[in-house]
Amino acid sequence: MALIIGNWKMNGLKAGLAEAKKVAEGAKPGDQLVICPPATLIMAMSEALAGSNVLLGGQDCHAKESGAHTGRVSAEMIADAGATYCIVGHSECRDELRDDDDVLAGKVEAILRAGLVPVFCVGESLETREAAKAESFVKGQLELVHGIADRVIVAYEPIWAIGTGKVPSTDDIAAMHQSMRDYLGEKTPLLYGGSVKPSNAAEILSVPHVGGALVGGASLKAEDFLGIARAA
Ligand code: 13P
Repeated sequence: MALIIGNWKMNGLKAGLAEAKKVAEGAKPGDQLVICPPATLIMAMSEALAGSNVLLGGQDCHAKESGAHTGRVSAEMIADAGATYCIVGHSECRDELRDDDDVLAGKVEAILRAGLVPVFCVGESLETREAAKAESFVKGQLELVHGIADRVIVAYEPIWAIGTGKVPSTDDIAAMHQSMRDYLGEKTPLLYGGSVKPSNAAEILSVPHVGGALVGGASLKAEDFLGIARAA
């Protein structure tokens, strides 16, 4: 069964709780669904979804457990609020927060320390893909989790496919996932992310070594998110 993770990004007010409840109500037994809402909603959502088979995740965290870091949220806080997973290394964080490998190593360590499962994101720019360097670039990003390959989930999200409606060919997704599998071994669940929607999910999720999807825009509506789950 595929793992379908919804990344709500900076979307979702209290009304989002109703949408998350719709996901829980529409989920079938055995579905592996995760919603990563903004940090402000995790606690209320974990109460609203208690007893359902929809789990929660954070979208990012600080490397430290607590302290003088205004505006930041620790992995321990995310776990305490009711999450099981935490996204780390999303291209939007690598870009907006300038997260480099050192920072990301601290965050991954923090996520494991807090008892959460890291969803480590990798993916190349269009320029790197066009230079035929996508696989070597992603392999470089994966070095950081190579030693803990059995404790992380990896999400391949080509930057140029995020929120653009563009998706790599299934051959390209297959080649990248094979390359990641060869490098990380058999134990790492591998997800694809970037413009996944109900209409293309079945094709993407049938690619060898694609064990699920990390979904942005299409995770905001329960109907679309469940449509992707049904395609799995
Ligand atoms: P979209 O599904 O909106 O392209 O976003 C993908 C993503 O960045 C999920 O983390």
